[in-house]
Order: sequence, then structure tokens, then C-alpha cells
Amino acid sequence: MLSDQQMLRIPGPTPIPPSVQRAMSQPMIGHRDRDTKELLRKIKPKLKPIFGTVQNVEILAGSGTAGLEAAVINTVQPGDEVLVIVTGAFGERFVQICNAYNIITHQIHVSWGDAVTPEKVESYLQSHPSIKAVMATFCETSTGVLNPIQQLAKVIHQSSEALYIVDGVSSIGAIEANMDAWGIDILVTGSQKAFMLPPGLTFIAASSRAWEKIEANDQSRYYFDLRKYHHSSLLDSTPFTPSLTLLYGLEQVIKLLDQEGLANVFGRHDLMMKMMRAAFHNLGIPLLTSEKAASPTVTAIKPNTFQADELRKVLKDTFGLVTAGGQGELKGKIIRIGHMGYCSPTDILQVISSIEIGLKMIGMDITLGKGTQAAQKIFLRSGKH
Ligand SMILES: *Cc1c(COP(=O)(O)O)cnc(C)c1O
Repeated sequence: MLSDQQMLRIPGPTPIPPSVQRAMSQPMIGHRDRDTKELLRKIKPKLKPIFGTVQNVEILAGSGTAGLEAAVINTVQPGDEVLVIVTGAFGERFVQICNAYNIITHQIHVSWGDAVTPEKVESYLQSHPSIKAVMATFCETSTGVLNPIQQLAKVIHQSSEALYIVDGVSSIGAIEANMDAWGIDILVTGSQKAFMLPPGLTFIAASSRAWEKIEANDQSRYYFDLRKYHHSSLLDSTPFTPSLTLLYGLEQVIKLLDQEGLANVFGRHDLMMKMMRAAFHNLGIPLLTSEKAASPTVTAIKPNTFQADELRKVLKDTFGLVTAGGQGELKGKIIRIGHMGYCSPTDILQVISSIEIGLKMIGMDITLGKGTQAAQKIFLRSGKH
């Protein structure tokens, strides 16, 4: 095996396109120079369609969790009540952030692998009018579930005055989002998932009603004070030194997304999901999530005839193919395969045929090519050739 070859197929960080890697090798510039203003001026308008908003998308240096924390502390205060929809590890992260700031959480827990139903949220909100914000995860990366974010928006706004805060970290840039049209008040993502960049940036967009709350909120905060970012961004600037290297990369990412066209980017992710699911289905390996709840960015299998981590180890040792295991209660029980960002149908074929060999190597009685063939057929039927 080539010692420097790795197939990184975890749900983030994701591989970096070579042109993005090259863009990030540009020399440093002054963060208060005109060069930085021009860079921001080029990037910022292009982020809006990815979020589906006319609002500014604020860029902060920090990982995705920094964006989630900023979303929480700018909109609510200690003692406020919020509703967190917990469908996996990232829903729990929202709870932990709220706990750290003494924000009172109501929680709707859904079993890991399922999506929440809007009806559950609707009836909860109707009987709890004091709730100031609802927090949901678009793609629950720990299970590969895609929650019905648009339908949730509808019931939340119909049954409450609460702000709707969405963690879109493993979905924005890969899955269509219409923040304004759907009624999302805060939408957050990070750089190392569908944005094809290294970790280190978080992106936050807020609706005008969210901005009203943010401006009026006197919860103390400094680096994460979104008002600072908002006011600076009107001057094509940032309150603190931005991660210039990542901004260079982002400029190139936006070019790539433009070249492919956002609709095609979303279509590619949908096709990759279908290829993955068809392959495992044909191999007789159970998928964790239903068809309806499946995310286009990450697929989880829950094998019942072999050890998940044994297969993962063989794949890593034999092919340098890196997959993710389970988190929390699913530790050791599932394998998660990321297919977002710099990932194409041909990568999926490579992953599936490598997995077939891996299955043989751990002693499974499968027919080689059964999964690959199912994925190949989906590709041919898609007309994307
Ligand atoms: C990756 C991820 C995050 C952020 O994690 P960081 O490690 O802080 O970047 C948050 N939510 C979801 C759904 C994610 O997939």
C-alpha cells in the first residue's frame, strides 16, 4: 500500500480538492489591508445562495461547535427555556452548550437512527408556550439521519414565537437549504464537512427577527458576539484577525461550487446516497436509517453478523480507507461512511468494492461485486453520464 495514500471517508474532516489546497498556499496578507477587504467582498455574496438567504453569512474562526455556541449565547440568556430536539450526539451537544450557560432545556429525544416527527414538536410547543428557541440538527452526523427541517419550521412558527436554530454543519453545501423561505432563524455550518476545507471556520446566518433578538440580548459575550461580526461585515471587514489561509481556500471552493452549479452539487450527493444504500441493501447488510430519514452526506450501517470495528480496521490496514465508528450508545455497533464535499460517484464505487474485499477478509460469506453492481446500476439509471 502507498504509505501516503489515504481515502478519508469519515463524515468530516473531508478531503480537500487539490486546487483548494494550492489556493491555501498563498502568502499571508495584512488583515486590515485592501486585499482582505476584496477577498471578503468576493466571498460573502456567494455564501448566501448556499444558505438560501439574503442575509449576510458571518464567518468566525473556530470549529462548528463555536458556531453553535455563538448561536445559543447570542439569542437566549441564562434562565430562558429552550427546546432541543435530540436525535443523536450533535443534538446532545446543543444541550451541553445550554447547560454550560444555565439555559433551561426541554428535550425531545428520538431513538438514534430515527428522524424527529414535526407532530411531536408541535404538540410539545403548544403545551410549553414559554419556550424561546428550538434547536434542531439538520443532518445528525452520528447516525446519518436527515431531520425534516423545513416541516419543523412550519410547525414551530405556527405553534410558537420561538426562534428556530439549526445545526447545518454536515449538510450546508451538500443539501439544499432555503433558510429564508423555510423560516430558519439561525443556520450554522463549519468548514471541514461539505465545504471541502480544513477545520477552522464556522459560518452563521441569522434572520432579521433573530438579529433583533441578538441586538437586544444582554448576555455577556466577547469573541462570539455576533453584533461585532455583523457591524464589521458591513464594512467588508472582520472584528478580529480572520483565518486568511482558509479564506483563500474558501474563495476557490466557491469557484468549484459555481462551476458545478449548486443544483448539480446537491444532485451528486443524492446520487451518492442512493448508490451507497443500494449496495448495502444488495449485500444484505442492514442500514441504520430508513429510506425516508436518510442523509445524502453520511450513511451508517448496523451489521448484525460481524463486528463493525473489525471491518473498519481491515479497511484501514489494507486500503488506507478510513471510516467512522459509532458515537455514544452506538459505539462499536455501526460504521459511518461520509460522502460529502470532495467526493464523487466513482469514489463511492471504490469504497464499496473495497468493503466487499474487507468483508471477505473478515470471513463473511458474500458474493463479490454484489454491492458494487447495485451501485453501478443506480449510477447508470441516474442519467449522470
Ligand atoms: C461536525 C459537526 C459539528 C461540529 O463539530 P466541530 O468538531 O466543532 O467542528 C456540529 N454538528 C454536526 C451535525 C456535525 O456534523
